[in-house]
Amino acid sequence: MTTRRQIIEWCDHTLQTHLFKDYAPNGLQVEGGNEVRKIITAVTASRAAIDYAAKQGADMLLVHHGMFWKSEPVTITGWKKQRIATLLQHQINLAGYHLPLDAHPELGNNARLAKIMGWQSDYQCGEQNLLNIGRPEQVETLSYWAGELLHKLGRAPVIVGDDAVEIKKIAWCTGGAQSFFQTAIDEGVDAFVTGEISEAQYHLANETAVAFISAGHHATERYGIQALGVAAAHEFGIEVQFFDEQNPA
Ligand SMILES: [Zn+2]
Repeated sequence: MTTRRQIIEWCDHTLQTHLFKDYAPNGLQVEGGNEVRKIITAVTASRAAIDYAAKQGADMLLVHHGMFWKSEPVTITGWKKQRIATLLQHQINLAGYHLPLDAHPELGNNARLAKIMGWQSDYQCGEQNLLNIGRPEQVETLSYWAGELLHKLGRAPVIVGDDAVEIKKIAWCTGGAQSFFQTAIDEGVDAFVTGEISEAQYHLANETAVAFISAGHHATERYGIQALGVAAAHEFGIEVQFFDEQNPA
């Protein structure tokens, strides 16, 4: 029998959660049943993911974006009540791993995106070492990488930069890491890839000639939680299934 505690302790240890300062609790967020026979993984603990886990009779929902973010109201009303009520009603454990899952050198979102795209990581820097600096396996133009991102992530990236420029040195951080662009510029890269873009990055890209690529928050963060799920299935010999959504953001 595999217990909730065994899985949480294994995830905490594997992802070294104690090393990170985060804006949401990492680990168990909502307690369900003691025994875990089936896990659903998803990017976000959305109502759709929770409903799916309930329908599948899962004992745990394991996600990258859990609940209880620091910026949120602490009251349990509206959509948050609905999510929690369904979890409790079906005895589903909710576990979330945020920054530790972005950063893990093998299972992490950054590592998995690099593997899919064929980017070699040379070093990490910036806030909590979440920014990756490296090189593509072959030197290609910005428009080539735009095509590759569309092809491999299934979502058209938003790009600010000169299509014909060659990308020799590249920085990336999955999700909503547009504020890391200045650090990437300081590292002397040709392009920075993340999941989202805000107004300011357009001007920064134009004025520094460092390309900015917004490849989708959900699209760039699908892979870490899947890798963690596969590793957990292997470790505990239990069923793990990934639930995906068509989130355009
Ligand atoms: Zn994220």
